[in-house]
Amino acid sequence: QGYYTRRGGIGESGDFITSPEISQIFGELIGIWYVSEWIAMGKPKAFRLVELGPGRGTLTDDILRVFKQLSSLLSKCDVSIHLVEVSPKLSEIQALMLTGGKVQSNPEDESAYMKGVSKTGIPIFWYRDVQDVPPGFSFYLAHEFFDALPIHKFQRTEKGWREVLVDIDPEVPDQLRFVLSPSSTPATENFIQPEETRDHVEVCPEAGVIIQRLACRIEKDGGAALVADYGHDGTKTDTFRGFRNHKLHDVLRAPGTADLTADVDFSYLRKMTQGRTATLGPIKQQEFLKNMGIDLRLQVLLQNSDDTATREQLLHSYDMLMNPKKMGDCFNFFALLPHHRLVQPERKHKPESKSPLLPVAGFGELLLQ
Ligand code: SAH
Repeated sequence: QGYYTRRGGIGESGDFITSPEISQIFGELIGIWYVSEWIAMGKPKAFRLVELGPGRGTLTDDILRVFKQLSSLLSKCDVSIHLVEVSPKLSEIQALMLTGGKVQSNPEDESAYMKGVSKTGIPIFWYRDVQDVPPGFSFYLAHEFFDALPIHKFQRTEKGWREVLVDIDPEVPDQLRFVLSPSSTPATENFIQPEETRDHVEVCPEAGVIIQRLACRIEKDGGAALVADYGHDGTKTDTFRGFRNHKLHDVLRAPGTADLTADVDFSYLRKMTQGRTATLGPIKQQEFLKNMGIDLRLQVLLQNSDDTATREQLLHSYDMLMNPKKMGDCFNFFALLPHHRLVQPERKHKPESKSPLLPVAGFGELLLQ
């Protein structure tokens, strides 16, 4: 009875709002990031853009507009869109947004459950699992995806690590409660890192598995992954919470009716790449967007609009994305890139033929990890 498969309330009338729903600039700058990486990687003849958890499809729609505007640059490149979505309700909304609703369900000879063509003429495919997406040079995108995946909660006790479990409250009817496992569980044995120093930890093994798959694919076929989410670099302890109608909601009340979320632990994602790719970040959303040129884009949009309401809306949405007290600091950007994108392979015979590596847009002077 998953929340996303039944409710999936993104947007002002729903339970939570996301950056692409706030401003078109967000998706535009991400679109430019991919084009910039495509150029830096030698303009391969084809690329797939694979988005995990595309919500209402707004982010992809904004990215497709950028691809259309840069069509002279991309004209010889075979671009396709691949959406990984479990929610039937949201995939319908995405299809309407991106194709005008003209889609084919369960196409033959495809691992996709649905396919269509974007309003700009680019093929789009839908899958339930990233493993179903055909391999090949791909750019992956996960915005507010990993935070939606289930976590395990653990607590350090005098007797060792114990798992926090959900139980039925024997005293209050229809009420759930948290309990501490009396002994260790398979999860405490397997998911706690030996060097862990925190007393409370949240681990999302599903995120680890997906990152491992992306890292394997990028190592083998090339491409990159951009992950944006609220999160931390292995420092926070208790972040599991619920949202309903834009208000905090007790995670144990009325299960399935609220958006449940936990901050993404980027240090865990980095570990799960197992060194197959280089990683960049996490870097704060306000820094990433500033490095990507959000100020310039805002100025252009302000100059092009002559009605006060639109200008006010532009300024308000800029503040939502950039203000450190709003989304500017708590949201982070993190990237997976092939090692050779960041470090020149040694060329023993022709050292003079080395061309300088282009910097990775958005990440400024950040050093790779
Ligand atoms: N990226 C969008 C939506 C974020 S909400 C935005 O920023 O607006 C999370 C998205 O992930 C939803 O589309 C939800 O249906 C999808 N999702 C949740 N769990 C998933 C899973 N296990 N596999 C694939 N998609 C999932």
